[in-house]
Amino acid sequence: MDSFSPSFNRLVGLITRMPGIGARTAERLAWFVLKSPPQYARQLAAELEGLHEKIIFCSRCGLMTEQDPCVICTSARRDQGLICVVENPGDALRIESTKEFRGVYHVLMGAISPLNRIHPEDLRITELLDRIREGGVREIILATNPTVEGDTTAYYIAEQCKDLTVQVSRIARGLPIGSDLEYADSLTLTRALSGREKF
Ligand SMILES: [Zn+2]
Repeated sequence: MDSFSPSFNRLVGLITRMPGIGARTAERLAWFVLKSPPQYARQLAAELEGLHEKIIFCSRCGLMTEQDPCVICTSARRDQGLICVVENPGDALRIESTKEFRGVYHVLMGAISPLNRIHPEDLRITELLDRIREGGVREIILATNPTVEGDTTAYYIAEQCKDLTVQVSRIARGLPIGSDLEYADSLTLTRALSGREKF
């Protein structure tokens, strides 16, 4: 039900477009902003305003960053010879939160899915192969989701790496099949990474 304030209704409408947010939740969030000190709304607006200008994707690994290359790609404390390949930036954040992985990342920006017309050339696979060909990469860990699309993508990349001198591993089957990395807890992810198998 619309309120008597068009501004409030527009805000609720915008929040409702976000994934997983129904009208009722959107109303609660909008109400929260309204009853908070005005400073909160101003900060929120300022962050949203500059979002697309400030946040870019690392040209090397594809992670969200404010400097290019990102801090992980330029860190001497990370193992630049070990690349964890994930579908989305969020997957890398999830793995990063386990604090166990000391390598670097490569974000594909999706997975192969002919049904949704997502083909290998739509993903950052060429960029990954280029990184391997540059040298210095010992191993890539395919940490795509344990779904049909994720498995297809992992298989495709492994095929492309056949003639390259790099070890290709797939994360262990500790994750529930058909689910996304997004929903795995920290311990499960750590086990999946350490229990990886040669492809
Ligand atoms: Zn990077």
